[in-house]
Amino acid sequence: MSATLGVLLKQLDASLSICMVEKLDDVAKESTSGWNNAGTGHAAYCELNYTPEKADGSIDASKAFAINESFERTLQFWTHLVKQHALPDPTSFINPVPHLSFVWGEKNVSFLRKRFAAIGNHPMFVGMQYSEDPAVLREWMPLVMDGRDASQPVAGTRIPHGTDVNFGSLTRSMVGYLQGDENFELLVNHSVDGFTRQQDGKWRVLVKETGSATTTEIFADFVFLGAGGGALPLLQKSGIDEGKGYGGFPVSGQWLVCKKPEIVSQHFAKVYGKASIGAPPMSVPHLDTRIIDGEKALLFGPFAGFTTKFLKEGSFLDLIASIKPGNLWPMIKVGLGSFDLIRYLISEVMQNHSDRMDALREYFPLAKDEDWTLASAGQRVQIIKRDPLKGGKLEFGTEVLTSADGSLAALLGASPGASVTVSAMLQVLEKCFPSQLATPEWQGKLKEMIPSYGVSLLNDPALIEQIRQDTLSTLGVIPAAEIVQVAEELAA
Ligand SMILES: Cc1cc2nc3c(=O)[nH]c(=O)nc-3n(C[C@H](O)[C@H](O)[C@H](O)COP(=O)(O)OP(=O)(O)OC[C@H]3O[C@@H](n4cnc5c(N)ncnc54)[C@H](O)[C@@H]3O)c2cc1C
Repeated sequence: MSATLGVLLKQLDASLSICMVEKLDDVAKESTSGWNNAGTGHAAYCELNYTPEKADGSIDASKAFAINESFERTLQFWTHLVKQHALPDPTSFINPVPHLSFVWGEKNVSFLRKRFAAIGNHPMFVGMQYSEDPAVLREWMPLVMDGRDASQPVAGTRIPHGTDVNFGSLTRSMVGYLQGDENFELLVNHSVDGFTRQQDGKWRVLVKETGSATTTEIFADFVFLGAGGGALPLLQKSGIDEGKGYGGFPVSGQWLVCKKPEIVSQHFAKVYGKASIGAPPMSVPHLDTRIIDGEKALLFGPFAGFTTKFLKEGSFLDLIASIKPGNLWPMIKVGLGSFDLIRYLISEVMQNHSDRMDALREYFPLAKDEDWTLASAGQRVQIIKRDPLKGGKLEFGTEVLTSADGSLAALLGASPGASVTVSAMLQVLEKCFPSQLATPEWQGKLKEMIPSYGVSLLNDPALIEQIRQDTLSTLGVIPAAEIVQVAEELAA
């Protein structure tokens, strides 16, 4: 998040001085590390939780359209940076991996059929295929179909131009690009420890070097708290009124990972299923092809867990230290009202390898216990906030919070996460740099970086086609010839 904001600001105003402070010995070692997240370029192609079924049985596709549009903005920004040689060869951070949804059982098949009817013909989801034919599904995902009960009704959708993203590699490249500028400084092994607002309006930021008593002061007109799970404690330390009443609920994650080439080579897709009842939306099970730093692997999960740490490299005291008079009531209310979530987390925590393998065999029936190992994923801190009706509510999204004067912004939450960085950071610009953003200079530069900036793609098939031809071919997600074919289908 911080790297994206840094690059956006540098592109908009090269004279800005930017200092990035990182607690660990390098950037992108927490949630953004390739192995700590699922690397799905979330475009709502396969994630069934973005198209919930309403009480009347119809599909609410509004979130799917919003997420697809948001990811389009992200792809445009990366495309611009690749063309400028600010980012290296795109295969170092993005690779085409088809996005599939897969369900079984009459009720779920009927849901997927309705979902396809709701979005499958829209230009934003062009190229989406639907099938209930086991032979077709086997072609798309042999490991998922082999050994499956033939009497079971099944259905799937597939979009060929889905993506697997190595957000860690992308972030390191972005920070590398920033380091080429003399007005940029990266301080690693330094923690932001506190803030004070000065009379002149600047923030005095206290920064501590790891393993030393040395404290450095940084004076800044604007501060962005892009500290992942560490953003909430920093927001509390800033003392801004807008941060009062916010709390956090940490959820950890684990994956089953398989690196055996003879198995990995048989699956080329991200296959998302339906979440179990009570499961938070980010716990939707999926069987993924991952391509990280040239290495291919299969990953299944996530299996949720509970910890009191806000960061993987955090402290067990994080949760308790975050409880303040202002957020105590919302936290109690959420704790008392989240039975399904708590039950779900307890059941996840109690699982052993054999239970997890049983969950995997619902997606890969012939999977063998010895081929898969357990790995820890990153931490997510879900947002708890005040609610006028219920006292407190738990949210699974991402929220940009800013001080009234726009001198400080923080990003809370982690879902849909890294895929929506550009939209999230555009929100920061809109809230914190409104006068600069209104100038023809910034507007022109933003349009250059993100051609769909300020316009809706929803009702503009011609613009979607034009943008996708550029993004998908520049980023190597789909060869230009296939885009032309998709465009012809769209025109037809
Ligand atoms: C299990 C899991 C699966 C996910 N899957 C996906 C996915 O498929 N697709 C997707 O788009 N997103 C996914 N996400 C979300 C995505 O990983 C995050 O939204 C994104 O990486 C967050 O980036 P960030 O920069 O906000 O935080 P982080 O990457 O966590 O970075 C925060 C940085 O701040 C540093 N820091 C913290 N406190 C301090 C301090 N006091 N001083 C200095 N430095 C500090 C940390 O060391 C860290 O380097 C997933 C997340 C998880 C956990």
